Amino acid sequence: MHFEQAQRIKNLPPYLFARIERLIEEKRAAGVDIISLGIGDPDLPTPDHIVQELIREARNPANHQYPSSVGMLSYRRAVADWYKRRFGVELDPSNEVVALIGSKEGIAHISWCYLNPGDTVLVPDPGYPVYAGGAILAGAMPYYLPLKAEKGFLPDLADIPVEIARRAKMMFLNYPNNPTGAVAEESFFAEVVRFAREYEILVCHDAAYSEVAYDGYRPASFLQVPGAKEVGIEFSSVSKPFNMTGWRIGWAAGNREVIEALGRLKSNLDSGQFQAVQYAAMAGLQGPREVVDRVNAVYRERRDILVDGFNSLGWSLTKPKATFYVWAPVPAGHTSESFAELVLEKASVVITPGTGYGPNGAGYFRMSLTVDTGRLKEAVTRIKQNIGPVRF
Ligand SMILES: *Cc1c(COP(=O)(O)O)cnc(C)c1O
Repeated sequence: MHFEQAQRIKNLPPYLFARIERLIEEKRAAGVDIISLGIGDPDLPTPDHIVQELIREARNPANHQYPSSVGMLSYRRAVADWYKRRFGVELDPSNEVVALIGSKEGIAHISWCYLNPGDTVLVPDPGYPVYAGGAILAGAMPYYLPLKAEKGFLPDLADIPVEIARRAKMMFLNYPNNPTGAVAEESFFAEVVRFAREYEILVCHDAAYSEVAYDGYRPASFLQVPGAKEVGIEFSSVSKPFNMTGWRIGWAAGNREVIEALGRLKSNLDSGQFQAVQYAAMAGLQGPREVVDRVNAVYRERRDILVDGFNSLGWSLTKPKATFYVWAPVPAGHTSESFAELVLEKASVVITPGTGYGPNGAGYFRMSLTVDTGRLKEAVTRIKQNIGPVRF
């Protein structure tokens, strides 16, 4: 029997990397040792005090029932307190914070709250695919904002045609940025607030990497800019700072009307996250900052090995200030895909073609710092021996 799929599913973009996936499969089947720099998922374990808190709370029968779909008040308070300490941002835990089953869940669902079929939403390109995916599932049309190296991978708001800005209902942003590793200063966020006010656009800022930063750099929150709460919300989670991607717990914070709408949608879709997991996330947020600093020190060493290694082969990469990604241009004569295939074929190293994050990712590839230093050195050595120096 063939069941016709809904148009919203058919509208989702096709999967781009079938060829590369097939190559990986073939190599694995042949017993080749593949080093994957393709996956953006922390390899280090969740800190033990967080795991211990889960175990303790899992044993409490009070946590075995349905939780609230918007999260325990104590969890939302922990998020608000963390915002106060980390960014100096005041949030009312009762109505300016909602718990999410990972920030990805909220990012996908916010479009359902504010976009009607045919509506326009501003989406960064390259960008995390969930922004466009959620919008497309809601029937809306993404208008892609190109992120260019010469603008520090920040969208040029002045470049957005006035009729598009007028039509747009929502805008996604993400700094520190996946995949480019770029960061945004408060002055840029202030510009975003002005733009959003002028055109009445809801800003959804994804701050998943706010804690993954190096060399003393402390990324800003969108919410710390005056007026931000009037025009937007911020998504984040414990996934990246505390190596908790598998636990599925995050939050959205900011504009109370928007937080209420997201909570109302969620109360019709899910019944929240296991309270023991909420307690564990609280243990992370309330626990010592050193655990985050220690993880960042590991990524920093890896970043230096990878960037210095590539630069010795002819690249001139600068070290990202934040995120665990290195975004690099492909050598002359290559596309993102052809270079990724070459590196896989010849060096058995997986890199992600930039086009996986949108058309403006063309000419780039992304490498993730979520593998240990030995494997990173080995990856650089293999590329050096099998591909050699490159030109741009
Ligand atoms: C990892 C990631 C997220 C989401 O992570 P959750 O585990 O769902 O909280 C969100 N945005 C970006 C850009 C990411 O890379």
